[in-house]
Amino acid sequence: MVETAQACSVHVRGVVQGVGFRPFVYRLARSRSLSGWVLNHENGVEIYVEGEQIDDFLRDLVSHAPAAANIASVNVEPAEPKGLRDFTIRTSERRATPAARISPDLPVCGACLRELFDSNDPRFGYPYINCTNCGPRYSILLALPYDRANTTMKDWRMDARCSLQYQDPEDRRFHAQPVACGNCGPHYYLKSAAGCVEGGNAAIQAAAAMLGGGSIVAVKGIGGYHLACDALNPAAVEQLRERKFRKEKPFAVMTRHLDAAREIADVAEEAERLLTSQARPIVLVASKAKLDGVAPDTRELGIMLPYTPVHHLLFAAGAPAALVMTSANRSSEPIAYTDEDAQASLKGIADAFLIGERPIARRMDDSVVRVGAFGPAILRRARGYAPAVVARIPRTTCPMLALGADLKNTIALSVDGDVVVSQHIGDLDHYPALQAFHECINDLVTMYEVRREDLVVVHDSHPQYASTLHAISLAAPERRIAVQHHRAHIASVLAEREEWDRPVLGVAFDGTGYGDDGAIWGGEVFVGSVRSGFERVAHLRPALLAGGDAAARFPVQAAAGFLAQLNSLPDLTAAPFCFPQRYNESLRLLNSGLRTFRTTSMGRLFDCVAALAGFVRPVTYEGQAAMWLEQLARGSSSTAAYPFPLIDGELDFRPALESIIADRLHGLDPADIARAFHRGIAAGVTAAIRTLGHSHRLDGIALSGGVFQNELILENLDDPRLFTNHAVPSNDGGISLGQIALAAFQSRHA
Ligand code: ZN
Ligand code: FE
Repeated sequence: MVETAQACSVHVRGVVQGVGFRPFVYRLARSRSLSGWVLNHENGVEIYVEGEQIDDFLRDLVSHAPAAANIASVNVEPAEPKGLRDFTIRTSERRATPAARISPDLPVCGACLRELFDSNDPRFGYPYINCTNCGPRYSILLALPYDRANTTMKDWRMDARCSLQYQDPEDRRFHAQPVACGNCGPHYYLKSAAGCVEGGNAAIQAAAAMLGGGSIVAVKGIGGYHLACDALNPAAVEQLRERKFRKEKPFAVMTRHLDAAREIADVAEEAERLLTSQARPIVLVASKAKLDGVAPDTRELGIMLPYTPVHHLLFAAGAPAALVMTSANRSSEPIAYTDEDAQASLKGIADAFLIGERPIARRMDDSVVRVGAFGPAILRRARGYAPAVVARIPRTTCPMLALGADLKNTIALSVDGDVVVSQHIGDLDHYPALQAFHECINDLVTMYEVRREDLVVVHDSHPQYASTLHAISLAAPERRIAVQHHRAHIASVLAEREEWDRPVLGVAFDGTGYGDDGAIWGGEVFVGSVRSGFERVAHLRPALLAGGDAAARFPVQAAAGFLAQLNSLPDLTAAPFCFPQRYNESLRLLNSGLRTFRTTSMGRLFDCVAALAGFVRPVTYEGQAAMWLEQLARGSSSTAAYPFPLIDGELDFRPALESIIADRLHGLDPADIARAFHRGIAAGVTAAIRTLGHSHRLDGIALSGGVFQNELILENLDDPRLFTNHAVPSNDGGISLGQIALAAFQSRHA
């Protein structure tokens, strides 16, 4: 037997820690009668095997890997046989810089769910049940490598049974770091004005009963607290809106199972795939039932399925089958994730707190995705996705930290070329989000043991963004790189495809970003590649914006500057337009030239058209008017399209606005107007792409920026060369990735 032995060393990179990879390797090696060892280190997993069936072993290593593993590369090198007699799992090794990819949090698996509801199982009803195939990862991780002592489970000692399972390579819980049971692990309890309910299922039963009775309960989950209430109880939903000061922004709903989701929404095949995917995101689908107050003014509903045992237990205990589950915070603050913070900040909002004792290491909102016209589109990237590596940039040597933009912000860190994009942080103009931003930077830099003096810091070119000011505080000028906002958008699309050299036409449409000329950009077309940079070749015809970015809150204020360019205007304060006084004040501001800025923002053009179609009130959340306009348009089957010509490098909005005003005065249905505007934009962009793509001999067109979250625009764009974001959001949550990509190729440090 020994004479034919071969041996090799195998190095596996990717998400291979905390996903049951080592026990899988152990079982695989034993089944092939191989000897050797496997160990975790900061660079992934290292294996040494010797024996006869090495080829079979290597094949199955990739094809049979655990569901939650994500192998980036496998390196095999021949070795001298050592004559080992068995196969072992060695303890983790410590090396210089950790480059291991950290697993995102996983939903509870089928095997654990069966045990959870099996009255003969020792973990029957235990809300922290997990195994190597499931459970929290990033949200409990305090440091690398991923071992129990480095998680928020460090303070609980395993009892004899848990520790036997933890040490048994044949067991599903072998090296499942958060393993615990009701005997040795953390518990849940319910706190309310009526007192505290502790012990076993009693707390969850009591919480379910309160939810059934119309109360609002704060529930601690994986990445923070949710505020929950019965989605089919309008009074409860109304009360939640009032207490949370959240007037109109849609709430997400968690349903007991897929069937319950189908009662209230259309869940087609692709939506089902996303709903049940490992990330368990909120999926936006067409709503069927009218749930009063849950998602006003939209036919879309955000749905998710239970992902942590406590959710399943709540439903099993009789909680309503559709629960509003919204990030627990006051309006626009980051999600509360510590027990103290939740109880302090949600006082007066939640009637009770269902508190779990296991600490959360960092906040993670639910992710939001949509079945897009161009494939899955991620609108908010957090739990289940972060901190997965989204790209590998060749030839970067020094670590880079990109601080993103301002709204819906994320940051990105590249270590040895691996780019990690953080979870969604929020809008940095809110102080608590700014604090979360600082925490997130510390967290990633510490986790990957990057020395701050080695960092190259990348930031938006806007001189006043909080992220820019922070970049200045972090790094000396020679270690800082500014990247223009819309170029970062286009680079984000190419970076997630790792296409560094492909020359494309890049169309970046969004609400706001600082332009090369200091104007507010947002309707930009570029030519170039990530490696060579992007040259602006066309843009929306400029308009004036009264009050600058503040105009984003008032569609009629944004409208004033666009409309001022038309030759003749009716009195828009009269019917059918009924613009409020703010419109006239904005016109006066424009005439005075005070606090007036030039803009090429498509987002503001959408606001202008929304105002003409009837949305004359202020918005209560970013992008609301454009979303309203899209939903309005979906109610029409008009095939008309307003003209949107490209003339001398400028997309001219005037013909469309003139037609819209005329059509409204003639009494055309605003839904038809909204539809024709969407079709017009899509047709105009298609024609512009054809002209510009031809003159620059390009075969790819990258679309990015928040406007391309508008599915109606995407559905009407028709060109096989088009592509957009999938791994990161096309909104400003994707900016940090684009910043790192552009900086890596421009930087003299790279
Ligand atoms: Zn499990
Ligand atoms: Fe943007």
